[in-house]
Amino acid sequence: MKKKEPSHCSFCLRPKEEVRILIAGTEGHICESCVEQARQMVEDELHAPVKRYKFAMSGSMKPRSIKEFLDTYVIGQDEAKKILSVAVYNHYKRLNQKTNEDVEIEKSNIIIVGQTGTGKTLLARSIAKYLNVPFAIVDATVFTEAGYVGEDVESILSRLLQVCNYDVAAAEKGIVYIDEIDKIARKSDNPSITRDVSGEGVQQALLKMLEGTEVMVPPQGGRKHPEQKMVKVNTQNILFICGGAFDGIERNIARRTATQLIGFKRNEDEKGVDRENMLQYIAPQDLKAFGLIPELIGRLPVLTHLDPLDANTLRAILVQPKNAIIKQYKQLFALEGIELEIEEAVFDFIVEKAIEFKLGARGLRSICEALLTDAMFDLPSQSDAKTFHLTLEYATGKFNQSKLSQLKIAS
Ligand code: ADP
Repeated sequence: MKKKEPSHCSFCLRPKEEVRILIAGTEGHICESCVEQARQMVEDELHAPVKRYKFAMSGSMKPRSIKEFLDTYVIGQDEAKKILSVAVYNHYKRLNQKTNEDVEIEKSNIIIVGQTGTGKTLLARSIAKYLNVPFAIVDATVFTEAGYVGEDVESILSRLLQVCNYDVAAAEKGIVYIDEIDKIARKSDNPSITRDVSGEGVQQALLKMLEGTEVMVPPQGGRKHPEQKMVKVNTQNILFICGGAFDGIERNIARRTATQLIGFKRNEDEKGVDRENMLQYIAPQDLKAFGLIPELIGRLPVLTHLDPLDANTLRAILVQPKNAIIKQYKQLFALEGIELEIEEAVFDFIVEKAIEFKLGARGLRSICEALLTDAMFDLPSQSDAKTFHLTLEYATGKFNQSKLSQLKIAS
């Protein structure tokens, strides 16, 4: 069939004589100035994220719907999801409360205790996604108390300002995830014998910010210096979620619970204690024994834990979440016009290796990468390839050749 000669731009309708270029689409043509205009519109849209934030509590926002949303991204961790859903719901009720009410609802800042790679950051990130508010992740280890080398705690808010293009009003209703909060614990529960003041200094510096106050923030972060212009941010409505692995806190829990616990679930020993998952019994006094100061614990009233990931959970993480790793690889192959087929046994193999090499959920990704890199290297050059079949045999071979398989020998 002979292609029709273009006569005009289908967008601005200018005839072909008046334009320099006409690009053909399936249904019509577009001229160079319409392309330019479209490009500008796309750019404006992409670079104006602030517009997208909405803070009103919609009628459909209920703790149950928040949890259902979290379920699509985070596997297991039911208790944490439930507690977080309620905390976030209450936070928004508080935001929408009229100021003249008698009872002032306090902030429900959250602290999540869980081994590394069990989903703390993912939970915080998913909540921010649900709420469509600015979200920043900061690491508590970079902070030092004023006067020492390191960053001031105010730079937490610099991060938040940066993610929302310095829209102060948006930042003031955002969520901050402070990772590795356990690393600023003081080394001993007893303040009189501790010499580790820096951790405690940082905790002190955080108190006001967590509670809600006006903070002068250096917009570029880092250290404050006199010439820098400061931005005033009120933290009254910012929700802080802190997370940490609190390595060894199980011992504090065990000591406390030795006298208290009766009748608990799963894998119980004769006292009814589930030794495999002591974090489920965590209480504020364990955080204190670990070295968080009581004032800080008081400003993080919602305490929850994450369960360690067992084989079933890891397998589910691989395939189930909305953007599960396997779904992502399938998509990558599909974009190449190739269908990725994976033998069921390969999933078990990946999980087995993640456990054997103590790689946790993060390791699932590295293992998949080790199994599929060669295929992703070769297939794009093979124009006839329509499917790629990942068998257990192929997977085992690739894994054994990979650097990952040497980890165990090294460790
Ligand atoms: P943490 O903050 O606890 O160290 P992350 O939330 O960063 O761990 O999780 C590390 C990786 O493992 C993320 O890429 C996440 O996709 C995955 N992951 C961990 N736990 C879960 C879970 N419960 N459900 C789904 N994915 C998870």
